[in-house]
Amino acid sequence: MTEIEKDFEYVWHPFTQVKTEAPAILIAKANKSLMVDYDGKEYIDCNSSWWVNLHGHNNSYIRKAINEQFKQIDHIIFAGATHSKAIELAERVVKKLPEPLSKVFFSDDGSTAVEVALKMSIQFWHNKNENRTKILAIDGAYHGDTFGAMSVGERGVFNRPFEFLFFDVDFLDFPTKEKEASLLNQAENLLKERKHAAIIVEPLIQGSSGMKMYSTNFLNKLVIISKRYDTLVIFDEVMTGWGRTGKWFAMDYIQETPDIVCLSKGLTGGVLPLGLTVATKALFNTFLDDTKQKAFLHGHSFTGNPLACAAACASLDLLEKESTWKSIERITKNNLKFARSIKSNESVKNVRCLGTIIAIEINVSSESSYFNSIRDEAYHFFLENGLWIRPLGNVIFVNPPYCLTQKEQNRIFAVITSFLKKIVK
Ligand code: PMP
Repeated sequence: MTEIEKDFEYVWHPFTQVKTEAPAILIAKANKSLMVDYDGKEYIDCNSSWWVNLHGHNNSYIRKAINEQFKQIDHIIFAGATHSKAIELAERVVKKLPEPLSKVFFSDDGSTAVEVALKMSIQFWHNKNENRTKILAIDGAYHGDTFGAMSVGERGVFNRPFEFLFFDVDFLDFPTKEKEASLLNQAENLLKERKHAAIIVEPLIQGSSGMKMYSTNFLNKLVIISKRYDTLVIFDEVMTGWGRTGKWFAMDYIQETPDIVCLSKGLTGGVLPLGLTVATKALFNTFLDDTKQKAFLHGHSFTGNPLACAAACASLDLLEKESTWKSIERITKNNLKFARSIKSNESVKNVRCLGTIIAIEINVSSESSYFNSIRDEAYHFFLENGLWIRPLGNVIFVNPPYCLTQKEQNRIFAVITSFLKKIVK
């Protein structure tokens, strides 16, 4: 059997209809912004390998940090024991976040970071003996694939078989400009019942639903309203963290601060799985008691994995370099320029940018959807032309590693332009 045949025989890939989709491409190596297959064909990793990679593949600085850490501690239990890299990471992350966020809980990925945030918020009220159990979320959200995270996410094809198990959640419509005022009113009416434990949002941009962006003004006001009724505010910055939006975190665009933030993806530079849920001291203090029942009795075998923490500290070193922010700025500026140039293209319904993210919504005869058939056409066109882009239905988007060169970015824009030409009706 060839390796690809063995892959087909033994491997079950995520988000894949094995019966109809083309076999996976066997990748031989990945370096900087490139993924290379066994025929030597190069693909620019335009979506940073599921939005995680910040500094490029095979980064020598991160590799060295992981190797050095391996010589000290590979993995140890994180209850009753601790280690230097977890302590360093927690301190450095807290110092990057607004002041009230000061206690770091470790987990494995974005979904678990969200799951932890939800459990923390619900237990917060339980510990205070108050009956606040509902969650408020925004329609179209994606917060992960565990049950809690699915419950607060978009209800639909992706999770229909499980829907009967989801807990009670109120949803606000996606905040388009026209709906902002009425949604804030609706949020106020719901929250003033004081039945909601928390509100959870992807700040400023909903990733999986098609890189949909909304205003800082709405987000800031929503937080103000939530706080007015003591509802905990959870920001899921799994996708938006670590410079992706042009600032360290999306929350840096607004004045208000959340009570809990979820971090993952780019946290380790995108090379090892790790999730963090950072809470305020006030929230943490409600878990302190003489009995064990009030403690947060939650954890994962690989909590605080030292190799992942070492990678995350190394990624922070790279993020603290001026040159990284220069690259972020360059990618951002080029995105804006390209967006202006294609705005009136007849194949383009809408183009939106935030920091290093550019999303192009293709004009289709039906409503925009993850299942639009243009998705497959675009995906294969881009692969043929050396771009690894995984469109979200009829939304093509690029959120590349920050080491992307000018030449590579020009190449991405040129291929997208030829795709737009190709699909003109
Ligand atoms: N939250 C957001 C905003 C995400 O974009 C994602 C993943 N796309 C998740 C949570 C889940 O992260 P993971 O896939 O690492 O579980």
